Amino acid sequence: MVDSIVLTAKQNPYLLLSNIGQLLTLRGKSAPRRGSALKEIGLIEDAAVLCAGGRIAAVGEQREVLRDQWLKKNKRKVEEIDCKGRVVLPGLIDSHTHPAFVEPRLVDFEKRTSGATYEEIAAAGGGIRSSLSSVRKATRAHLADRVLAGFEGMLEQGTTTVEAKSGYGLTAKDETKSLQAIRDAAQRWPGTVVSTLLAAHVAPPEFAGKEDEYVELICREIIPQIAKQRLAGFVDVFCERGAFSLEQSEKIFAAARARGLGTRAHVCQFTASKLDRLLAHQPASLDHMDCVAAEDVSLLAQRETVATLLPGANYFLGHREFPDARRLIDSGVAVALATDYNPGTSPTPSMPFVISLACTHMKMSVAEAISASTINAACALRLETRKGSVEAGKDADLAVFDFKDYRELGYWVAWNRCERVIVGGQNEHPPRRPTTAGLQHGGTEKSELNS
Ligand SMILES: [Zn+2]
Repeated sequence: MVDSIVLTAKQNPYLLLSNIGQLLTLRGKSAPRRGSALKEIGLIEDAAVLCAGGRIAAVGEQREVLRDQWLKKNKRKVEEIDCKGRVVLPGLIDSHTHPAFVEPRLVDFEKRTSGATYEEIAAAGGGIRSSLSSVRKATRAHLADRVLAGFEGMLEQGTTTVEAKSGYGLTAKDETKSLQAIRDAAQRWPGTVVSTLLAAHVAPPEFAGKEDEYVELICREIIPQIAKQRLAGFVDVFCERGAFSLEQSEKIFAAARARGLGTRAHVCQFTASKLDRLLAHQPASLDHMDCVAAEDVSLLAQRETVATLLPGANYFLGHREFPDARRLIDSGVAVALATDYNPGTSPTPSMPFVISLACTHMKMSVAEAISASTINAACALRLETRKGSVEAGKDADLAVFDFKDYRELGYWVAWNRCERVIVGGQNEHPPRRPTTAGLQHGGTEKSELNS
């Protein structure tokens, strides 16, 4: 994980956000919110937030915050941002992304738009594998530029913490390069990045028919190397028919835990999988969760493991069905939302768009979708003691949206209303444009089934 709260001598350590119309604090226990607690967003009207040294120092109604003795004496030292009645919430947390790719997958996209079925596209070959050759050929510096372009797109729309996976290299060398590129990009980006090794995205073509050998390579070589170089905090596995079996996933989880790494999985996206064996490894999060068996819903409700729902993939693949958030939430499962930003199935860096999808297609209230994109997403990354709410002592990561009512965050579609972000107590205004040109267009790829 790259922690970017390091203030340089030039930066002002004191920042006051005043005249906040609605402040969503998400205050409460630093633990996953479940059931009706998911709606509790800790709203304060006419609020102010004081940040000091990269952390939240005081939060509350403006008249209370302004009574702070230290603030009264040191007003001149403090930079003030007048929020003019706008909405302020914790910086959004995108807890599932795949930014280490080079090119968009336009050939598959055109096939889909001209009516090819899912199966026809699949039969043409490709999938995750179709991003391999460009990532393997790319230099670390070029890949880092592409990753940074993704991060900048996220920051523009209010995301200040992101989980970033490798998974398009699929050799020890190329997975290492991808994670180094993520680290390089993180050092040039103000937000916080949590890195995840996803060597178990799919078996690469050179291991066709020898998937167990590839799993051995991951467990014996790739995980130990990545752990030694401290390039990732988590290991992810795509546990799905056509990717990795439950047995293989368990082996990978065991290898990760033996090296002190956390675990998370892509699971139940297309087919239901029994979750008890994965849950035995205490994953921080199980992601997608489109088709979960009833007994697994009750099992999950008793665990700390978060279910991260990724409706951007359902949208982009044109699926009629979306993850059944209501069933999970009403059963007491801790639910988070994320973009799944990737070139095959969810090419969006926008958490507000995902929040909109959660409201319109998954029947989540805006308040629930915001909790799922802040405090619960922080839990999915095991960052809940530092991130996900606006409370004294937590990192001063905030997003200011240019509207008066927080429900507008789920209401406007494809209209970026993020006015500015505060990251580690520093004003990032205006939200920055990507520092490099748009994604390069390749057009040589065949197809994808998955991310
Ligand atoms: Zn994914």
